[in-house]
Amino acid sequence: MDKILPAYNDPLFSILIIVLLILVVAIVSFVMGNYKEERQRKTLKSFLGKIKTDECTLDIEKLPFEEALITPLSLLAHTFSTQGEYQKSIGIYLYLINNISPFPKKEYLLEGLGKTYLKAGFLKRSESIFLEILRKHARNREALYHLEVVYELLNKHDKAGQTLKPLEILGENSNSLKAHLKLSNLLKNQEINREDKVKKLKQLIEDSSYSYRRVIKELFKLDLNAAWELLDIDKIDSILDILWFLPSSNLNFDIISTNKTLSSIYRAKGVLEAKGSVSKSGIFVIDTINAAQKGGSHEVDLNFKYGCSRCKQHFPISFERCPKCYAIDSIQVKVSLAKKQSHTGYSLL
Ligand SMILES: [Zn+2]
Repeated sequence: MDKILPAYNDPLFSILIIVLLILVVAIVSFVMGNYKEERQRKTLKSFLGKIKTDECTLDIEKLPFEEALITPLSLLAHTFSTQGEYQKSIGIYLYLINNISPFPKKEYLLEGLGKTYLKAGFLKRSESIFLEILRKHARNREALYHLEVVYELLNKHDKAGQTLKPLEILGENSNSLKAHLKLSNLLKNQEINREDKVKKLKQLIEDSSYSYRRVIKELFKLDLNAAWELLDIDKIDSILDILWFLPSSNLNFDIISTNKTLSSIYRAKGVLEAKGSVSKSGIFVIDTINAAQKGGSHEVDLNFKYGCSRCKQHFPISFERCPKCYAIDSIQVKVSLAKKQSHTGYSLL
Protein backbone atom coordinates (compact mmCIF):
# COMPACT_ATOMS: atom_id res chain seq x y z
CA MET A 1 0.00 0.00 0.00
CA ASP A 2 2.88 2.28 0.87
CA LYS A 3 4.28 1.71 -2.65
CA ILE A 4 1.00 2.64 -4.37
CA LEU A 5 0.28 5.61 -2.14
CA PRO A 6 3.56 6.91 -0.75
CA ALA A 7 1.88 9.35 1.64
CA TYR A 8 -0.53 6.74 3.08
CA ASN A 9 0.88 7.16 6.58
CA ASP A 10 0.71 10.90 6.35
CA PRO A 11 -2.22 12.31 8.51
CA LEU A 12 -2.67 15.09 5.94
CA PHE A 13 -3.44 12.45 3.31
CA SER A 14 -6.27 11.04 5.49
CA ILE A 15 -7.74 14.53 5.84
CA LEU A 16 -7.53 14.95 2.05
CA ILE A 17 -9.43 11.67 1.56
CA ILE A 18 -12.18 12.80 3.98
CA VAL A 19 -12.49 16.16 2.20
CA LEU A 20 -12.71 14.37 -1.15
CA LEU A 21 -15.43 12.04 0.18
CA ILE A 22 -17.46 15.01 1.48
CA LEU A 23 -17.11 16.70 -1.91
CA VAL A 24 -18.27 13.56 -3.75
CA VAL A 25 -21.32 13.21 -1.45
CA ALA A 26 -22.17 16.91 -1.91
CA ILE A 27 -21.92 16.69 -5.71
CA VAL A 28 -24.04 13.51 -5.85
CA SER A 29 -26.72 15.11 -3.60
CA PHE A 30 -26.76 18.22 -5.75
CA VAL A 31 -27.09 16.23 -8.99
CA MET A 32 -29.80 13.99 -7.48
CA GLY A 33 -31.68 17.02 -6.14
CA ASN A 34 -31.63 18.69 -9.55
CA TYR A 35 -32.71 15.46 -11.24
CA LYS A 36 -35.62 15.06 -8.80
CA GLU A 37 -36.66 18.69 -9.31
CA GLU A 38 -36.52 18.28 -13.09
CA ARG A 39 -38.56 15.06 -12.89
CA GLN A 40 -41.19 16.76 -10.74
CA ARG A 41 -41.32 19.65 -13.21
CA LYS A 42 -41.76 17.25 -16.11
CA THR A 43 -44.42 15.26 -14.23
CA LEU A 44 -46.42 18.44 -13.60
CA LYS A 45 -45.91 19.59 -17.17
CA SER A 46 -47.03 16.25 -18.60
CA PHE A 47 -50.02 16.20 -16.20
CA LEU A 48 -51.00 19.71 -17.23
CA GLY A 49 -50.37 18.80 -20.87
CA LYS A 50 -52.83 15.93 -20.63
CA ILE A 51 -55.65 18.06 -19.29
CA LYS A 52 -54.95 21.04 -21.48
CA THR A 53 -56.44 19.74 -24.69
CA ASP A 54 -59.67 21.29 -25.98
CA GLU A 55 -60.23 23.19 -22.75
CA CYS A 56 -59.12 26.66 -23.66
CA THR A 57 -61.65 28.56 -25.70
CA LEU A 58 -59.29 31.56 -25.87
CA ASP A 59 -56.55 31.63 -28.49
CA ILE A 60 -54.00 32.40 -25.81
CA GLU A 61 -51.32 29.80 -26.57
CA LYS A 62 -50.01 31.78 -29.53
CA LEU A 63 -49.45 34.83 -27.33
CA PRO A 64 -45.69 35.37 -26.78
CA PHE A 65 -45.06 35.08 -23.04
CA GLU A 66 -43.74 38.08 -21.14
CA GLU A 67 -43.30 38.62 -17.41
CA ALA A 68 -45.51 41.71 -17.64
CA LEU A 69 -48.46 39.50 -18.65
CA ILE A 70 -48.50 37.54 -15.38
CA THR A 71 -50.46 40.00 -13.21
CA PRO A 72 -53.16 41.06 -15.74
CA LEU A 73 -53.69 37.50 -16.97
CA SER A 74 -53.88 36.02 -13.47
CA LEU A 75 -56.50 38.67 -12.59
CA LEU A 76 -58.40 37.81 -15.76
CA ALA A 77 -58.29 34.08 -14.92
CA HIS A 78 -59.61 34.83 -11.42
CA THR A 79 -62.42 37.01 -12.83
CA PHE A 80 -63.46 34.33 -15.35
CA SER A 81 -63.47 31.75 -12.54
CA THR A 82 -65.68 33.99 -10.35
CA GLN A 83 -68.10 34.58 -13.24
CA GLY A 84 -68.42 30.85 -13.94
CA GLU A 85 -66.43 30.99 -17.21
CA TYR A 86 -64.36 28.02 -16.09
CA GLN A 87 -62.94 26.93 -19.46
CA LYS A 88 -61.53 30.38 -20.16
CA SER A 89 -60.13 30.63 -16.63
CA ILE A 90 -58.50 27.17 -16.83
CA GLY A 91 -56.95 28.01 -20.22
CA ILE A 92 -55.29 31.16 -18.87
CA TYR A 93 -54.08 29.43 -15.70
CA LEU A 94 -52.54 26.61 -17.76
CA TYR A 95 -50.84 29.10 -20.12
CA LEU A 96 -49.28 30.99 -17.21
CA ILE A 97 -48.26 27.85 -15.27
CA ASN A 98 -46.60 26.33 -18.34
CA ASN A 99 -44.62 29.50 -19.00
CA ILE A 100 -43.43 30.14 -15.44
CA SER A 101 -40.65 27.87 -14.14
CA PRO A 102 -39.95 28.47 -10.42
CA PHE A 103 -42.61 26.81 -8.25
CA PRO A 104 -42.94 29.66 -5.68
CA LYS A 105 -43.76 32.08 -8.52
CA LYS A 106 -46.63 29.94 -9.79
CA GLU A 107 -47.90 28.46 -6.51
CA TYR A 108 -50.83 30.92 -6.31
CA LEU A 109 -51.70 30.17 -9.94
CA LEU A 110 -51.84 26.44 -9.19
CA GLU A 111 -54.11 27.24 -6.23
CA GLY A 112 -56.37 29.25 -8.57
CA LEU A 113 -56.41 26.38 -11.08
CA GLY A 114 -57.24 23.83 -8.35
CA LYS A 115 -60.10 26.01 -7.05
CA THR A 116 -61.46 26.54 -10.57
CA TYR A 117 -61.43 22.79 -11.24
CA LEU A 118 -63.24 22.32 -7.92
CA LYS A 119 -65.93 24.88 -8.82
CA ALA A 120 -66.30 23.39 -12.30
CA GLY A 121 -66.80 19.93 -10.76
CA PHE A 122 -63.54 18.36 -12.01
CA LEU A 123 -62.84 16.90 -8.59
CA LYS A 124 -60.09 14.42 -9.57
CA ARG A 125 -58.17 17.15 -11.41
CA SER A 126 -58.60 19.49 -8.49
CA GLU A 127 -57.30 16.77 -6.16
CA SER A 128 -54.21 16.26 -8.38
CA ILE A 129 -53.43 19.98 -8.42
CA PHE A 130 -53.72 20.39 -4.64
CA LEU A 131 -51.64 17.24 -4.04
CA GLU A 132 -49.00 18.61 -6.42
CA ILE A 133 -48.90 21.91 -4.49
CA LEU A 134 -48.61 20.06 -1.16
CA ARG A 135 -45.84 17.81 -2.49
CA LYS A 136 -43.73 20.94 -2.97
CA HIS A 137 -45.11 23.09 -0.17
CA ALA A 138 -46.63 20.94 2.59
CA ARG A 139 -47.54 24.00 4.69
CA ASN A 140 -49.93 25.51 2.14
CA ARG A 141 -53.13 26.09 4.17
CA GLU A 142 -55.32 26.98 1.16
CA ALA A 143 -54.37 23.72 -0.57
CA LEU A 144 -55.05 21.70 2.60
CA TYR A 145 -58.47 23.30 3.16
CA HIS A 146 -59.51 22.83 -0.46
CA LEU A 147 -58.20 19.27 -0.61
CA GLU A 148 -60.41 18.50 2.39
CA VAL A 149 -63.42 19.89 0.48
CA VAL A 150 -62.51 17.83 -2.61
CA TYR A 151 -62.29 14.61 -0.56
CA GLU A 152 -65.58 15.40 1.13
CA LEU A 153 -67.30 15.88 -2.22
CA LEU A 154 -65.73 12.63 -3.42
CA ASN A 155 -67.21 10.96 -0.29
CA LYS A 156 -63.69 10.05 0.87
CA HIS A 157 -64.23 11.08 4.48
CA ASP A 158 -61.16 9.22 5.78
CA LYS A 159 -58.89 11.11 3.42
CA ALA A 160 -60.68 14.37 4.25
CA GLY A 161 -59.96 13.68 7.93
CA GLN A 162 -56.28 13.16 7.16
CA THR A 163 -55.95 16.77 5.99
CA LEU A 164 -56.97 18.05 9.44
CA LYS A 165 -53.80 16.89 11.22
CA PRO A 166 -51.42 19.06 9.13
CA LEU A 167 -53.83 22.00 9.58
CA GLU A 168 -53.69 21.52 13.36
CA ILE A 169 -49.88 21.40 13.23
CA LEU A 170 -50.01 24.72 11.38
CA GLY A 171 -52.02 26.14 14.29
CA GLU A 172 -55.44 26.12 12.60
CA ASN A 173 -58.54 25.40 14.68
CA SER A 174 -60.13 22.35 13.07
CA ASN A 175 -62.75 21.55 15.73
CA SER A 176 -65.77 22.60 13.65
CA LEU A 177 -64.41 20.76 10.59
CA LYS A 178 -63.88 17.65 12.71
CA ALA A 179 -67.47 17.82 13.99
CA HIS A 180 -68.74 18.44 10.46
CA LEU A 181 -66.89 15.36 9.12
CA LYS A 182 -67.94 13.18 12.07
CA LEU A 183 -71.59 14.10 11.46
CA SER A 184 -71.29 13.52 7.69
CA ASN A 185 -69.77 10.10 8.40
CA LEU A 186 -72.60 9.21 10.74
CA LEU A 187 -75.35 10.41 8.38
CA LYS A 188 -73.94 8.53 5.38
CA ASN A 189 -73.00 5.37 7.26
CA GLN A 190 -75.29 2.57 6.07
CA GLU A 191 -73.83 0.02 8.48
CA ILE A 192 -75.16 1.63 11.68
CA ASN A 193 -78.73 0.59 12.42
CA ARG A 194 -81.48 3.17 12.81
CA GLU A 195 -81.66 2.80 16.60
CA ASP A 196 -77.94 3.39 17.14
CA LYS A 197 -77.93 6.30 14.72
CA VAL A 198 -80.79 7.98 16.61
CA LYS A 199 -78.96 7.35 19.90
CA LYS A 200 -75.81 8.99 18.57
CA LEU A 201 -77.74 11.92 17.06
CA LYS A 202 -79.45 12.51 20.43
CA GLN A 203 -75.99 12.87 21.99
CA LEU A 204 -74.70 15.17 19.24
CA ILE A 205 -77.67 17.54 19.41
CA GLU A 206 -76.57 18.51 22.93
CA ASP A 207 -73.12 19.52 21.64
CA SER A 208 -72.99 22.98 20.07
CA SER A 209 -70.06 21.93 17.83
CA TYR A 210 -72.54 19.99 15.69
CA SER A 211 -74.97 21.67 13.32
CA TYR A 212 -78.38 21.67 15.02
CA ARG A 213 -80.13 21.96 11.66
CA ARG A 214 -78.42 18.88 10.21
CA VAL A 215 -79.02 16.75 13.33
CA ILE A 216 -82.71 17.65 13.79
CA LYS A 217 -83.37 17.23 10.05
CA GLU A 218 -82.00 13.68 10.22
CA LEU A 219 -84.00 12.97 13.39
CA PHE A 220 -87.20 14.05 11.61
CA LYS A 221 -86.38 11.36 9.02
CA LEU A 222 -85.44 8.63 11.48
CA ASP A 223 -87.45 9.14 14.66
CA LEU A 224 -90.29 11.67 14.72
CA ASN A 225 -90.89 11.39 18.47
CA ALA A 226 -87.22 12.07 19.26
CA ALA A 227 -87.17 15.02 16.85
CA TRP A 228 -90.25 16.67 18.36
CA GLU A 229 -89.04 16.09 21.90
CA LEU A 230 -85.62 17.60 21.13
CA LEU A 231 -87.01 20.57 19.21
CA ASP A 232 -85.39 23.74 20.52
CA ILE A 233 -87.76 26.69 20.16
CA ASP A 234 -84.83 29.14 20.46
CA LYS A 235 -83.36 27.66 17.27
CA ILE A 236 -86.59 27.65 15.29
CA ASP A 237 -85.34 30.35 12.88
CA SER A 238 -82.74 27.91 11.57
CA ILE A 239 -85.31 25.17 10.81
CA LEU A 240 -88.48 27.09 9.94
CA ASP A 241 -88.43 25.71 6.38
CA ILE A 242 -88.16 22.12 7.65
CA LEU A 243 -91.12 22.61 10.01
CA TRP A 244 -93.14 24.45 7.33
CA PHE A 245 -92.78 21.66 4.77
CA LEU A 246 -93.35 18.75 7.18
CA PRO A 247 -96.29 16.60 6.00
CA SER A 248 -99.30 16.78 8.32
CA SER A 249 -98.84 13.10 9.19
CA ASN A 250 -95.45 13.93 10.74
CA LEU A 251 -96.77 16.60 13.10
CA ASN A 252 -96.98 16.01 16.85
CA PHE A 253 -100.07 17.96 17.86
CA ASP A 254 -99.55 17.25 21.57
CA ILE A 255 -96.30 19.22 21.48
CA ILE A 256 -97.50 21.83 18.94
CA SER A 257 -100.63 22.70 20.92
CA THR A 258 -98.64 23.37 24.08
CA ASN A 259 -96.29 25.84 22.42
CA LYS A 260 -97.34 29.33 21.23
CA THR A 261 -94.72 29.60 18.48
CA LEU A 262 -95.42 26.17 17.02
CA SER A 263 -99.20 26.72 17.22
CA SER A 264 -98.83 30.03 15.35
CA ILE A 265 -96.70 28.40 12.65
CA TYR A 266 -99.20 25.64 11.95
CA ARG A 267 -102.15 28.05 12.11
CA ALA A 268 -100.39 30.16 9.47
CA LYS A 269 -99.81 27.01 7.46
CA GLY A 270 -103.54 26.23 7.69
CA VAL A 271 -103.05 22.90 9.50
CA LEU A 272 -104.53 24.14 12.79
CA GLU A 273 -107.80 25.94 12.87
CA ALA A 274 -107.64 29.54 14.09
CA LYS A 275 -109.92 29.84 17.09
CA GLY A 276 -110.40 33.20 18.80
CA SER A 277 -107.32 35.38 19.16
CA VAL A 278 -104.10 33.94 17.76
CA SER A 279 -101.06 34.45 19.98
CA LYS A 280 -98.00 36.06 18.40
CA SER A 281 -95.04 33.88 17.54
CA GLY A 282 -92.45 36.63 17.32
CA ILE A 283 -91.68 35.51 13.75
CA PHE A 284 -92.69 38.42 11.52
CA VAL A 285 -93.83 36.44 8.48
CA ILE A 286 -95.85 33.97 10.55
CA ASP A 287 -97.62 36.74 12.50
CA THR A 288 -98.30 38.57 9.21
CA ILE A 289 -99.93 35.50 7.64
CA ASN A 290 -102.05 34.95 10.76
CA ALA A 291 -103.13 38.59 10.75
CA ALA A 292 -103.96 38.37 7.03
CA GLN A 293 -105.99 35.20 7.61
CA LYS A 294 -107.91 36.91 10.39
CA GLY A 295 -108.72 39.66 7.90
CA GLY A 296 -110.01 37.05 5.44
CA SER A 297 -106.99 36.69 3.16
CA HIS A 298 -105.81 33.13 2.67
CA GLU A 299 -103.57 33.73 -0.32
CA VAL A 300 -100.29 34.33 1.52
CA ASP A 301 -97.57 31.71 1.69
CA LEU A 302 -93.90 31.55 2.65
CA ASN A 303 -90.96 31.57 0.27
CA PHE A 304 -87.56 30.29 1.45
CA LYS A 305 -84.06 31.15 0.28
CA TYR A 306 -80.74 30.24 1.84
CA GLY A 307 -77.92 32.69 2.54
CA CYS A 308 -74.29 32.14 3.52
CA SER A 309 -73.12 34.12 6.54
CA ARG A 310 -69.57 34.20 5.20
CA CYS A 311 -69.81 35.14 1.51
CA LYS A 312 -73.35 36.67 1.75
CA GLN A 313 -74.52 34.84 -1.38
CA HIS A 314 -78.09 33.55 -1.64
CA PHE A 315 -79.17 30.19 -3.04
CA PRO A 316 -82.58 28.70 -3.87
CA ILE A 317 -81.82 25.36 -2.20
CA SER A 318 -80.52 24.38 1.22
CA PHE A 319 -76.85 23.39 1.66
CA GLU A 320 -74.50 21.88 4.21
CA ARG A 321 -71.42 23.53 2.73
CA CYS A 322 -71.77 26.86 0.96
CA PRO A 323 -71.63 26.14 -2.79
CA LYS A 324 -69.74 29.41 -3.32
CA CYS A 325 -67.14 29.69 -0.54
CA TYR A 326 -67.37 26.14 0.94
CA ALA A 327 -67.97 27.45 4.48
CA ILE A 328 -69.57 25.01 6.91
CA ASP A 329 -72.40 25.83 9.34
CA SER A 330 -72.90 29.14 7.53
CA ILE A 331 -76.45 28.60 6.27
CA GLN A 332 -79.05 31.26 7.08
CA VAL A 333 -82.70 30.52 6.32
CA LYS A 334 -84.18 33.59 4.62
CA VAL A 335 -87.95 33.70 4.60
CA SER A 336 -90.31 36.08 2.82
CA LEU A 337 -94.02 36.32 2.05
CA ALA A 338 -95.28 35.08 -1.28
CA LYS A 339 -98.58 34.57 -3.08
CA LYS A 340 -99.92 31.08 -2.44
CA GLN A 341 -99.49 28.77 -5.41
CA SER A 342 -101.96 26.01 -6.07
CA HIS A 343 -99.39 23.20 -5.73
CA THR A 344 -99.41 20.41 -3.19
CA GLY A 345 -96.94 20.67 -0.30
CA TYR A 346 -93.66 18.82 -0.26
CA SER A 347 -91.21 17.83 2.44
CA LEU A 348 -87.53 18.82 2.66
CA LEU A 349 -86.70 15.49 4.29
ZN1 LIG B 1 -70.43 31.19 1.28
